Amino acid sequence: MNVVLLGPPGAGKGTQARRLEDGHGMVQLSTGDMLRAAVASGSAIGRQAKDVMEAGQLMPDALMLEMIGARIEEPDCLHGFTLDGFPRTVGQAEGLDRMLAQRGKKLDFVIEMAVDDAALIERIAGRFECCSCGTGYHDTFKRPATKGVCDNCGDTNFRRRADDNAAAVERRLTVFHNQTAPLLPYYEERGILRTVDGMAEIDEVSRQIEAIIESGTSGKA
Ligand code: AMP
Repeated sequence: MNVVLLGPPGAGKGTQARRLEDGHGMVQLSTGDMLRAAVASGSAIGRQAKDVMEAGQLMPDALMLEMIGARIEEPDCLHGFTLDGFPRTVGQAEGLDRMLAQRGKKLDFVIEMAVDDAALIERIAGRFECCSCGTGYHDTFKRPATKGVCDNCGDTNFRRRADDNAAAVERRLTVFHNQTAPLLPYYEERGILRTVDGMAEIDEVSRQIEAIIESGTSGKA
């Protein structure tokens, strides 16, 4: 199954994508993670991405389509994937449709994670993750059980994203409303849009997503 998780920064897309990868083997394809890896590697794309990301703006559609196009060709994507942070513009959505059709694939569902803007700023400003395994934490909502030690892998190094500060978050939210929210009617028209309550507890959001995935698999042989 191939799905898109659609929602503003801080909606919980990454958390839910990792759960779908663990539970269903659907590979998490996060364009944000790919760009952060490019920044860390110091490549030409990385140098361009650094400034764009820190400003909370978007990278060019053509470049993002090329990046995702190459990634979904890889064998681990054969059994399905979850797109996390892509597409973010109508141009990217149209390009993705063309690309999937050429490869005999399609999107099964686009799952909107509906959240409240005011809550997002608090959510994002407090988040951090394990440097080693990427498990996400939050200063208020989800601290490691033992202070300074990752619950999942025991590592003691954590990091915060450079663009997770209040000013950049507000810009990222504006970009979301202007450029990404038009994808909701785009996918509604195609009959594949579903919505979950992104303000609910993490397990409840997972339960709602599972019900959607289940509705797509139960009719298949
Ligand atoms: P994310 O981790 O998904 O919040 O992405 C972090 C930043 O990477 C965004 O604010 C953009 O600057 C850039 N980015 C990630 N995905 C895309 C995309 N699909 N199109 C353009 N820029 C992107």
